[in-house]
Amino acid sequence: MKRVSFKTLGCRLNQYETDALVTNFDRAGYRIVDFSEPADVVVINTCTVTRQSDQKSRNLINHSVSKNKDAVIVVTGCMVDNYKKKPGALGPATYAVDNQHKNLIVSLIDSHFKGEIMDPDTVPGDVFGFETVDRSLHTRTSIKIQDGCDNFCTYCIIPSVRGRAVSRPAREILDNVRSVLDNGFRELVLTGVNIGRYNHEGIDFEGIIEQILKIPGEFRLRISSMEPDGFGPGFHNLFLNPKLTPHLHLCLQSGSDRILTKMRRMYTVGSFTRIVERFRKQMPHFNFTTDIIVGFPGETDADFMATRKIIDELKFGHIHTFRYSRRAGTRADRFPDQIPEDIKVSRSEIIRTLSEKYRKAYMQSLVGKQQTVLVEKIDPAGFAHGYGEHYVPVMFRPEAPEKNRFETVTLTRLTGEKDKAVLMG
Ligand code: SF4
Repeated sequence: MKRVSFKTLGCRLNQYETDALVTNFDRAGYRIVDFSEPADVVVINTCTVTRQSDQKSRNLINHSVSKNKDAVIVVTGCMVDNYKKKPGALGPATYAVDNQHKNLIVSLIDSHFKGEIMDPDTVPGDVFGFETVDRSLHTRTSIKIQDGCDNFCTYCIIPSVRGRAVSRPAREILDNVRSVLDNGFRELVLTGVNIGRYNHEGIDFEGIIEQILKIPGEFRLRISSMEPDGFGPGFHNLFLNPKLTPHLHLCLQSGSDRILTKMRRMYTVGSFTRIVERFRKQMPHFNFTTDIIVGFPGETDADFMATRKIIDELKFGHIHTFRYSRRAGTRADRFPDQIPEDIKVSRSEIIRTLSEKYRKAYMQSLVGKQQTVLVEKIDPAGFAHGYGEHYVPVMFRPEAPEKNRFETVTLTRLTGEKDKAVLMG
């Protein structure tokens, strides 16, 4: 059996597509090995959202080539779409397969080992053409419902590497959900690029969620990262269904309306705040996490203070902090008033400190309450680890430790620092 290993950078959508490729290769008779082991095929699913992601992708490609001298190195993902027309930009890979043709990688490798040359670009690709995940590198699995984006935020390269927004047929999504439940998954994460914009034959984002929640079975549904401009005024009512987890990663990016306008974001700080308040009025412990970009071109001290102010007001459960990264081909890359790197660094440190402060405060607010934890790992000491429905990490000692099982736990205390902070049951 040929051995194949995988490495994925970037978003949950990329993680999902790797899981689907793992299933495809597994069904095609390949042996899935860990990335640290020698392999005959190495698949690197890249990201290009920032300069740092490009550099990490390049390092992975060079590392894989030097470690697996005789292996077939397949580079796929957003960096391929960003650089495939630039000779040498993707390093010494055997094959570079863009996002549109990612679902053809197994056929490409099968042809390769039969000595046939197949050019994926000559065959129609399908961004939804992946098999149902039954073999995954994770306990929870993702359901891809959408791809691409039409928003064209001025800093974002994604529309040019993932294409226009497309929504997957609702019937396919519901079949996919039933199949992964049959395959034993208990937590499903809806993913895509701009999922709030899902719309297929009149079924919108809220409509497809309602249909999924009607499917019988012991499971819960989580929504991955979302834009604050894709859902209706009644969206929060869907979360009254205990199957839908009370957590949203809603990307704010800046606390300054002036900067949001320059970013071409389709909401204001006020409308964002009203969304959060609407949810919290109904569910006081609803967990909002977010993304913040610091150092966007033209960001003044006053703009940055506005970002700090909204964070102090909304007290997010966690903040992913990004230093603005110039991406060739985006409008913001051509903006005149670029911010020096040292200012970006100092501003990002301030946001990270704020994030840590409010993350601990949020987790502390759950002490004494119950969480239903999906067990993802059992450590050698017999402690089970997993996430509660509010997307907080929990550790506890169950009587009969078992992975991929829901356990209801009363949280007793918060322990650990930074990303090691965990709630004890
Ligand atoms: S909504 Fe904006 S930030 Fe998000 S993928 Fe689309 S263009 Fe990029």
